Amino acid sequence: VNRDHAVVVGGSLAGLLAARVLADHFDRVTIVERDRFPADAAFRPGIPQSRHLHVLWTRGLEIMEDLFPGLERTLLDAGATEIGVPADVLWLTAAGWRNRFEVTRLLTFSRPLLDCAVRTRLKADGVLGSGSLDVLEDNEVVGLVPRGADVAGVSLRSGERLAADLVVDATGRGSRTPAWLATLGYPAPPETLVDPLLGYASRYYAIPPGFDPGWKALYLQADPPATRRTGGLFPQEGGRWICSLSGAGRDYGPTDEDAFLEFAKGLRDPVLYEAIRDAEPLSPITGFRRTANHRRHYERLSVWPRGFVVMGDAACAFNPIYGQGMSVAALSALALDRCLRETHRDFERRFQRRVAHSGAGAWLVATGEDRRYRETEAAPTRLSTHVINAYVDRVVAAANVDRRVCASLLDVLALSSAPASLFSPAVLARVTANSARSAARPPSARETGGPPRGRPARL
Ligand SMILES: Cc1cc2nc3c(=O)[nH]c(=O)nc-3n(C[C@H](O)[C@H](O)[C@H](O)COP(=O)(O)OP(=O)(O)OC[C@H]3O[C@@H](n4cnc5c(N)ncnc54)[C@H](O)[C@@H]3O)c2cc1C
Repeated sequence: VNRDHAVVVGGSLAGLLAARVLADHFDRVTIVERDRFPADAAFRPGIPQSRHLHVLWTRGLEIMEDLFPGLERTLLDAGATEIGVPADVLWLTAAGWRNRFEVTRLLTFSRPLLDCAVRTRLKADGVLGSGSLDVLEDNEVVGLVPRGADVAGVSLRSGERLAADLVVDATGRGSRTPAWLATLGYPAPPETLVDPLLGYASRYYAIPPGFDPGWKALYLQADPPATRRTGGLFPQEGGRWICSLSGAGRDYGPTDEDAFLEFAKGLRDPVLYEAIRDAEPLSPITGFRRTANHRRHYERLSVWPRGFVVMGDAACAFNPIYGQGMSVAALSALALDRCLRETHRDFERRFQRRVAHSGAGAWLVATGEDRRYRETEAAPTRLSTHVINAYVDRVVAAANVDRRVCASLLDVLALSSAPASLFSPAVLARVTANSARSAARPPSARETGGPPRGRPARL
C-alpha cells in the first residue's frame, strides 16, 4: 500500500484522533472539514452536541494523553476541574445513592475546550510523527473518487478532487458512506437501531460564589421503566456549571425556561433543582434529540473497497447519556494505529472489524440499559438481555455500597474492561454478598457527605 497521502473527512474528535495516528504512517494528512474551525474553545455548527454535557471516561483520556502527551495538563491549565468519582459526585443510581468512595478521577471541561486543545496540539510543531498536516476548512466532501472498485480520493463541494491512498470517513451520525459506496456498486451495510427516543436540554450557569455543599458534581439517573429522567450538573472551565437534563420515551428535556426548571424538579431528587433554581443562567437552553444507538455493520460486508475506512459515530453512534462516543473514537484511533503497523493485507476490512470490536462493550451497555424503557424502538428484546439486566441491577446495587464492585462497574463504564468482567467469580461473590445490604439501606449523610439524613433513596 502506498502511504503518501491520507484524507480524513470530518474534523471533530474521531477525525482529529485519526489524523494524529495517520501522521505516523503517511507523508501527508489532510483533514477536510465543513465548518471553519474557531480559533479558541468556541462552539461550531458541525458539532451541535457540544452544547451538552460531555464526560470523557478514563480510558478515552488515557489514549488521548498517549497521543498528545501533556493534554491533561493543557486542559487543567485551561480551567478543567478534576473530580473524584464517585467521591466528589452525588450520584443517584437506579438502586439508590452511591457511596462516595474514591475509585477513579475524571477531568470535566466543555466539549469545545477538548476539541480546541486537541486541534492546537495537532497543529503544533513536533507533535505529528513524520507527516505534515493540511486542513481544508469550510469545504465538504460530496463523494468518493473511484479507481476501479477501489477508492482513490474524494470529490469536494468546491469541485476539486483530492487524490488519496486512504480516505477515512469521520463525518459522524450524518455520514453519507452508504450512499457513496452505492455509487461504487457496493451493497448497503446491515444496520441496527435501538432508539430510546431520548432528548437533551442543556444550559450553562455561573457557579454561585462561595458555593461549597460538599460535592462538585451531580448525577441523578433515571430508574427505568418507572422513571425516565436523568440530570447532570458538572463544573466546566470559567466557573460554570453545565446542566444537562434528558428524558427517554419522548419525555424530552424541554427548552422552555419554566418547563426546564419543572423538569429538573421532577428528577428523582430535588438537589439539582435546588442548585440551579437561583443560579445565574449564562446561556439559552439548547435541545438535542438525535440520540439513537445506531450501528452500521461495515464489518459484515463481504466486499469492501481498498483505500477507504469508516470510524467514530459514522460507524457506530450511541445514546450519549452513557458518555461513550469520544472514548470509542479514541479506541478506534488506537485500532487504526495497530492495523497500520501490521503488515497483513486486507487492512481496511481488518480495521472495520476492530472498529466494531472497539464499540462492542459500549454498545452492550447502552442498548442493554435503553431496552429497559418501555417506549424504546428496537427489535424484540432477547430473554438473555432480560437475564443480564436483572444481574446488572444487582451489580449496580452492590456497587453503591461495595468499593470493589463499584471499581469493577466503573471500569466497564469507562471502557477499561469488557462487560463480561462483571461476571468474574470475584465480582459475582461480592454482588451476591452485598445485594441484600444495598437494597435495604441507603448510605447516610455522614457516610456520603451527600443528601440530608432521612431523604429516601428512591423517590
Ligand atoms: C447530546 C450529546 C452528548 C454527548 N455526550 C457525550 C459524552 O458525555 N461522552 C462521550 O464520550 N461522548 C458523548 N457524545 C458523543 C460524542 O459527541 C461523539 O461521539 C464525538 O463527537 C465523536 O464523534 P465523531 O467525531 O465521529 O463525529 P461528530 O462529532 O459528529 O463530527 C463530525 C464532523 O464531520 C464534519 N462533517 C460532516 N460531514 C462532512 C462532510 N461531508 N465533509 C466535511 N466535513 C463533514 C462535521 O462538521 C463535524 O465536524 C455525545 C453526543 C451527543 C449527541
